[in-house]
Amino acid sequence: MSEHPDRIAVHCPSCTPAEETVHEVLSAGGGQLTVRCTECDHVHKAQPDEESDVERPVIVSQDGDSFSTTVSVPPSERVRVGEEFIVETEEAIMQVRITDLETDTETRAATADAEEVETFWTRAVDNVSVDVTLHPRQGDPDDTRSLTAHLPGDYKFTIGETVSLGEDEFEVTNIHVRETAISRYPFEKLGDDGDTVVAKDVKRVYGYEEGTSRAWSAW
Ligand SMILES: [Zn+2]
Repeated sequence: MSEHPDRIAVHCPSCTPAEETVHEVLSAGGGQLTVRCTECDHVHKAQPDEESDVERPVIVSQDGDSFSTTVSVPPSERVRVGEEFIVETEEAIMQVRITDLETDTETRAATADAEEVETFWTRAVDNVSVDVTLHPRQGDPDDTRSLTAHLPGDYKFTIGETVSLGEDEFEVTNIHVRETAISRYPFEKLGDDGDTVVAKDVKRVYGYEEGTSRAWSAW
C-alpha cells in the first residue's frame, strides 16, 4: 500500500484537540493509521492525509533581478497577495511576499486556491531596496534628490524620527505604502508623527535633509 511517514502531525483527541501534535505511526491498515501522540502517549486512529502537496513555480524579484524556484503547498490552501512564505534555493533560504497570483483564468488574481495558481510572483523581503526622496530643509524646494537605501525588510521608518543611512541623515516626513501592504496600514500615504512602516512595505520615503548648510550633489 502507500508509504506512510514514521511521524505525522494530526489532532490528538486526548490532549490537544485544537492543535496538531506529532504522532508516531504504529501501523497502517484499512485506509487508516494507528498513531501514538508523542505529547500524551494516547493511541488512536487517524486518517492519513489524502491531500499531497502541489509544487508550483515561484518567480522571486530582488533588487531588479529575478530568478525562479518552486514551492510546495497543500492544494486547497487559500493564498493571497501580500502573504509571505519561505523559499529555499541552492544558495539561500529566503522570505518572499506574494505580489501577484497568476492562475489559468486570471493573470493578476488577489486570492486563489494554491492548486489554481500557475505562477507565484513574489518579491524577496529579507533585504529590500527603499526609494527615498529628500528635500532640503531650507532653500530651494526644487533642490530635491533621491537615493536608494538597502535595508533589512524589518527596518522601521517612523515619521518625525531622524534616520542615518551612511552619510545621509534626514527626518522622515511622509511614507507611501506599497499596494501589496496597504491592508496593514490605516492609509496608503502616511504623514502623522509616530506613524511607522517597515522597509519591506515602503513604496517611497520622503524626508527633510538634515544640516541645511551641508553641501550635497546628486552624484
Ligand atoms: Zn495527545
